[in-house]
Amino acid sequence: MAFELPELPYAFDALEPHIDARTMEIHYGKHHAGYTKKLNAAVEGTDLANMKIEDILANVSKHSTAVRNNGGGYYNHSLFWSIMEPTAEADGEPTARMNIHKAIERDFGSFDNFKSEFSKAAATRFGSGWAWLCVDKNDKLFICSTANQDNPLMDVVEEEGTPILGLDVWEHAYYLNYQNRRPDYINAFFSVVNWHAVTKRYNDANEGASDFS
Ligand code: MN
Repeated sequence: MAFELPELPYAFDALEPHIDARTMEIHYGKHHAGYTKKLNAAVEGTDLANMKIEDILANVSKHSTAVRNNGGGYYNHSLFWSIMEPTAEADGEPTARMNIHKAIERDFGSFDNFKSEFSKAAATRFGSGWAWLCVDKNDKLFICSTANQDNPLMDVVEEEGTPILGLDVWEHAYYLNYQNRRPDYINAFFSVVNWHAVTKRYNDANEGASDFS
């Protein structure tokens, strides 16, 4: 298999009560596993089978709808699991020493303002999709949202960038616990964000160009 389902870095119930164990079990074990399987089927026997997923997505306009949808689904969920952490370990906000804290204050004025803008992007995405915090080519942060399994790495989106935080707002991500209350799910998500992972992604974007020293 060209692409492997990454291991979930915590137990299904680790994000409770914010994200329930049953949702995690289905989301990871059925949805993410399904995207992975279908991506492998779509690239089998082609040059794409030996490429990095990021490089495939950067030129996704040249590939099939199956590669776009399942490649996006594969990448997006891998990122999503990695930027959350168990409820017991999560801090809620980045600490002042983290580069991501400094970048958020520089580009959004305050963490609260960032949180409000990100939440709005997630809440107003019509239908299925994702909200993203991204880094542009000049190391500046921006918020966007994409439909379906698209993401800001793709050459088909309005504003391309490197995603460092993503929130899945497909109903399969929250419906069992929150039903139609997407705003409650969005708010709860902030209780399990792994800001160490997000600041690392920020530091690594643009080949580590960001510098606050
Ligand atoms: Mn999902």
